[in-house]
Amino acid sequence: MKPVAESPVASRQSQGGGARVLRNYVGGEWVDVDGVELLDDINPATGEVAAQVPLSSAAHVDAAVRAAQEAFPAWRATPPQKRARAVMALREALWERQEEIARLVTEDMGKTLADARGEVLRGIESTEAATAIPHLLKGENLEGVANGVDVELVRQPVGVVAAITPFNFPAMIPLWFLPFAIACGNTFILKPSERDPRPAELIFELIDGIDAIPAGVCNLVHGAHDAVNGILDHPGIEAVSFVGQASTARYVAERSAANGKRCQALGGAKNSLVVMPDADLDVTVPAIMSSSFGAAGQRCLAGSVVVLVGDRERQDEVLAAIRDAAAELEAGAGDKEDVEVCPLVGPEARDRVTGALERALADGTAELVLDGRSTANEAGTLLGPTIVEVSDRESEVAREELFGPLLAVVRVSDLDEALEFVNGSRYGNAGSIFTTSGEAARRYRFGVEAGMIGVNVGVAAPVAWFPFSGWKDSIDGDLHANGNDAVEFYTRKKVVTSRW
Ligand code: NAD
Repeated sequence: MKPVAESPVASRQSQGGGARVLRNYVGGEWVDVDGVELLDDINPATGEVAAQVPLSSAAHVDAAVRAAQEAFPAWRATPPQKRARAVMALREALWERQEEIARLVTEDMGKTLADARGEVLRGIESTEAATAIPHLLKGENLEGVANGVDVELVRQPVGVVAAITPFNFPAMIPLWFLPFAIACGNTFILKPSERDPRPAELIFELIDGIDAIPAGVCNLVHGAHDAVNGILDHPGIEAVSFVGQASTARYVAERSAANGKRCQALGGAKNSLVVMPDADLDVTVPAIMSSSFGAAGQRCLAGSVVVLVGDRERQDEVLAAIRDAAAELEAGAGDKEDVEVCPLVGPEARDRVTGALERALADGTAELVLDGRSTANEAGTLLGPTIVEVSDRESEVAREELFGPLLAVVRVSDLDEALEFVNGSRYGNAGSIFTTSGEAARRYRFGVEAGMIGVNVGVAAPVAWFPFSGWKDSIDGDLHANGNDAVEFYTRKKVVTSRW
């Protein structure tokens, strides 16, 4: 088993002074988490400490598991239509409070308000999709497999399930999991990112107000490594959904497997945007701006490499259009009108991105096309759109996930060479092609090794009725999030053979 690296975030001393300390939600009660380290939850735009996050221990996880186990027998026996109505009530509450949740996402994670609104809407869509559970849970049957013998398949919940979620979609990603998990009849524990857990807290406040969701069905445990290990090692938890960096995903998947748990662990990404010479730049350039610099590049679907296909003259033309558009983007605090590039989640994230940029410039693996480093704020979190042209296609800026507004540019002569570069990535989360040729789009779609594909679309965003995930190192596990895969993940199949 791999050792768990110490997170600089988790080990930082709390400096929040009087900021509110968050509480866990266990068995239908908000509970203080005493005797643990507190972590500052900062507003990335200002650096202000908005709250303090208790780093729960395995014992706090155990309390949540016991509450979830207690609630499970009655909840799994609740008819699917009634569970669907409970999820509908959550959908109504989310719909009503969506603006408030979106504002909290902006305050806690940093993304622009428009982006945060989109995130919340996608979380609501997952909740809506889960309300179809009476249909989705229906099994199969085959009459008369032998004389007087019938066979039927029924789906049953797996038990207590947990989700461990990342910072970059603090409202949407918890909602990829919670509604489907409980609609299937499971009871649920969420461990949100310790960097921005307040949107999750608000969602649980809504849950607390819904009578149709009994105490213990949904539980919230704040924390970092110790809470995650508490989940992975707890014998009472049957299944773990995870989203985060590839290294954490591998760790979570390995430790879950070692402990006999079902696991879906969605990991990191390095997504390429292929621009064919015939691409319509009026469509392509705005799509690249949104994909590469929206949320300051902190999306698992962010396009972080542009692959320019064609002759040098056309490549120069496309690159100039991309550079000019990026230079015009407005960077600043996410709650300001007109801002398009938000701050990074913390100053250490900006340092990580500029560090990789400076290494690439120093070792000559990349050349600057646009430098965003002079764009800064007091909190040390703002970085303007930055573009580099890559000379070494296997270098860090071309191949590693840097999760910031840093776009690498690679030139290739044709689509085959583009696919060879794209498929050379260890990741396979997403990818897009920009073209006016149906033939090129079709060849790309057939050959590209990634789970979420855009054709003239820069962000192939999740659609709740379809499964969402990547391939290769972008997932450890088989079943994706959302859609029928969610029902598959959160249920066990039982085949009953009867003779009468
Ligand atoms: P992260 O891996 O640092 O954290 C994710 C979760 O794991 C958090 O809840 C955190 O507390 C926990 N964690 C982190 N390190 C741990 C460790 N060593 N041991 C135990 N638990 C640990 O990810 P992040 O920085 O919050 O999120 C950004 C990453 O998530 C990016 O790599 C991005 O590509 C990825 N992501 C992927 C998808 C997808 O669908 N594939 C979606 C969103 C984000």
